[in-house]
Amino acid sequence: MFESLSEKLEGALQSVTGQGRINELNVAETMREIRRALLNADVNYQVAKEFTNNVKEKALGEDVLTSVTPGQQLTKIVYDELTRVLGGEHVEIEYAEDPPTVILVAGLQGSGKTTFCSKLAKHLRSKGRAPLLAAADVYRPAAVDQLQKLASGINVPVYTVSDDDGKPVQDAVRVAEEAVEEARNTARDVVIIDTAGRMHIDEAMMEEVSTIKSAVDPNEILFVVDSMTGQDAVNTAKEFNEQLDYDGVVLTKLDGDTRGGAALSIRSVVQKPIKFASTGEKLDALTEFYPDRMAQRILG
Ligand code: GDP
Repeated sequence: MFESLSEKLEGALQSVTGQGRINELNVAETMREIRRALLNADVNYQVAKEFTNNVKEKALGEDVLTSVTPGQQLTKIVYDELTRVLGGEHVEIEYAEDPPTVILVAGLQGSGKTTFCSKLAKHLRSKGRAPLLAAADVYRPAAVDQLQKLASGINVPVYTVSDDDGKPVQDAVRVAEEAVEEARNTARDVVIIDTAGRMHIDEAMMEEVSTIKSAVDPNEILFVVDSMTGQDAVNTAKEFNEQLDYDGVVLTKLDGDTRGGAALSIRSVVQKPIKFASTGEKLDALTEFYPDRMAQRILG
C-alpha cells in the first residue's frame, strides 16, 4: 500500500539527515521534494501545497531540539501533517438511539460497494450487533445473487423482494423501506442498504439514492470509492457529497494502491471523514480507519 509514496517521502526526508540543523535553505529543498512526492502520488494540488506550507512553517518555527536529529524532527512534523490531512481523529459510525440503525451505502458500480456491505455486516457481527442486509441494487440480478452468496458465508440474512418468477422487483425504495420494517420485526439492530451504482455518475442513480435517503432517513450514509482511481475518486466523492451530504467515506482497494492520492486528498477536499479502509477481496479485509495509523504506515 502506498509503496511509491512511502519511498519518495523517505528519500525527501533523508536529504536533511546529516544536516546540522533545519534552516531556510535545506527546508526549501526538502519541501520541493515532498511536494513532488505528493503530486507524483496524485495528491490534489491544493492539498499538496498546503501540506508543504504547513510543514515548512512548523519546521522553521520549532525550537531546535538537541535530543533529535533534524531528520527525525522533520519526520515527526510530516507524520503530524499526514495525520491531519487524513482526518486527525478516528470517526465512528453513528448508531441510532432507537434501533435499528440504518446505514445507506452508495458509490459507483465496481467500487466495491457490495463487498463492503458484506464486510461491514461481518465487522458489526464481531462487535455483537445483529445486522440485516438489504439488496436494493435491484437492476442487476447478479448483484442480488452476489450479496446473498457473500452473506450466506457469514450467516447474515439478506432482505430481497422478488416477483412470482423469483426475479428481484425493481423497486429499490420499497426494498429499503421494507428491510427497515423487517429489521424491527426480527430484532435486527442494524440495516445495511446496498444501492445500485453505475459506471459513471448519472441523474437517475443520484435521484434513486436520494429518494431512498428521504424514505428511510438513514443514521449513516457511507460513500464507497475505489482509491486506485486517484483524483477521479476525489471528484466522484465531491459530486456524491453535493447530492447526498454523506457522513463518511469508505476507501476500497487500498491493497492495490501504490500511490495514495485519493486517500490523502479526499478528507481535505470533501471535508468528510474516512471511516473504513478495504484492503482485499476477502471479507475480513476491512479496517476501521485511523489517520495516525495510516500516517505511520506511509512513513514506514
Ligand atoms: P460494486 O459493483 O460496487 O458492488 O463492487 P463489488 O463489491 O462487486 O466489487 C467489485 C470488484 O472489486 C470485485 O471483484 C471485488 O472482489 C473487488 N474488491 C472489492 N473490494 C476490494 C478491495 O478492497 N481490494 C481488492 N483487491 N478488490 C476488491
